[in-house]
Amino acid sequence: MENGPDRAGTPALELIPLGGLGEFGMNMMLVACGDTAILVDAGVMFPEPDLLGVDLIIPDLRPLQRYRIQALVLTHGHEDHIGAVPHVLRFVDGPILGTKLTLALLEPKLDEHAADVKARLTEVTPRERVAIGSFTLEFLRVTHSMPDCVAVAIHTPAGIVVHTGDFKVDQTPLDGQPMDLHRFAELGSQGVLVMLGDSTNVERKGFSGSERDVMDGFEEIYTSARGRIVVAMFSSSLYRMQILVDLADQFDRKVAFVGRGAIENSQIAQRLGFLRVPPGVQIRDSELREYPSQDIVCICTGSQGEPQAALPRIAINDHRHAKLDPEDVVVFSAREIPGNEKAIGRVMNHIARRGAEIVYEGIKHVHVSGHGSEEELKLMLALVRPRYFVPIHGEYRQLARHAAVAKMASPGTKVVLAENGDLIRVDGEGARIAEKVPAGRILIDGTRSGEVGDEVLRDRRHLAGDGLVVPVVAISRQSGMLEETPDVITRGFVLDARTEALLKEIPGLVGAAIEGASVEERTDPGLIKEKIRVDLQRFFRKRSGLRPFVLPVVMEI
Ligand SMILES: [Zn+2]
Ligand SMILES: [Zn+2]
Repeated sequence: MENGPDRAGTPALELIPLGGLGEFGMNMMLVACGDTAILVDAGVMFPEPDLLGVDLIIPDLRPLQRYRIQALVLTHGHEDHIGAVPHVLRFVDGPILGTKLTLALLEPKLDEHAADVKARLTEVTPRERVAIGSFTLEFLRVTHSMPDCVAVAIHTPAGIVVHTGDFKVDQTPLDGQPMDLHRFAELGSQGVLVMLGDSTNVERKGFSGSERDVMDGFEEIYTSARGRIVVAMFSSSLYRMQILVDLADQFDRKVAFVGRGAIENSQIAQRLGFLRVPPGVQIRDSELREYPSQDIVCICTGSQGEPQAALPRIAINDHRHAKLDPEDVVVFSAREIPGNEKAIGRVMNHIARRGAEIVYEGIKHVHVSGHGSEEELKLMLALVRPRYFVPIHGEYRQLARHAAVAKMASPGTKVVLAENGDLIRVDGEGARIAEKVPAGRILIDGTRSGEVGDEVLRDRRHLAGDGLVVPVVAISRQSGMLEETPDVITRGFVLDARTEALLKEIPGLVGAAIEGASVEERTDPGLIKEKIRVDLQRFFRKRSGLRPFVLPVVMEI
């Protein structure tokens, strides 16, 4: 290496993971050297469905104040990489760099922000180089579960840092855009100081496989289905959408996107040419009732059992446009995120009550992971052969496993196992965790109503100011009816005559919410909690302008 932290006078390299190490989601990495600092990704984490009142979780951003951050680099358009961008903008004094699709998926999140923010969006293409301060950023194409994803090689005065982003090695990419393995190898021969590598799937043996691998499974479903085909998946899985659309064309079915995320993303992807829908194939969700069920494919949100998403509503026949009958097939085409099993199980029970068939991974090959398994991670390490390796994107056990894999695949590499808030310093004395900075989570509520902004940023410390309402409800497991009058616990309210009068109305409101629900909704704790929460929040906003945290507790007796 001509350059390098060993050379006298070379500034030290500093890496601070703010999120994504020791947990899945909210990926964010600060890279600083000398007078230049950049941020790679700004993601969110989704709360488990039972953590009601919280829509998103982002990392504690306080460590960013220490640096003048000159650019925000986005590897791809998944929420765990771009969801927190609106919250980090005020710390970044410079461009927001991403590929065309990444920036297009980001743009709706910036709608509330002034036009000057949009002017900072800077489109990059793979193999392009961009100078930021004393860094040169270079983008490398990687394959993943969505198109237009990149890794970034950061040429710093101390040496080259390769951040893989999320990747797998899809050898037959659906869009014909293969991973740039050549360039990773070239950088490897040039000498890479540090590699930061995706650990999500390190516990899986072999290769993850191509996005194409689900084609056969879906073809069987299209061949045998006699009613509707309803597929729940992440609305960012654009390759999966393309496969379902192409099959619909082939089997003379119409495709409707159902649920906000699926509708929005399919529109963006079509506008940019990342999703091609043949003329006449797509219909609106509001037109679903005009077609016989055997002519329909619904691509919908809700694969994780999220109470506000499309599939859980469809499953209890409570969706405005879509419904289920016997003969229909419902496909869960997504990974079950740990923590969501119960919610997903409840949705499956509702679907079974409609008489529809349920297909999921394990019954048929209807999902393939977007993250590389052990052999792909070894390949990446062997190509890049970094001097130091920091496993990222995973819980601690995955990071540790990736460290063990690195020792086999690139024996000369030294591994630094770090967690969120560890400041990794790389200088003439090597690479080590030199310091700890504040790390943690901020809970955010309110994005569902479209209000993104600092005023709805509320972590637990602010609860006192906004108030907390905990309606405790005991319902019968069988009928879903109230067993007794709900108890209401509150914190942080100024108890004047007006608030007291408001609080007195709550038990009645909760009772009305429950009575107004269908039996299935009442006996599903996830759904009924969401209904109570929404009703009470509306009540407080309308009657008092307050926005308390509402956290219903439902006990089934
Ligand atoms: Zn991703
Ligand atoms: Zn990710």
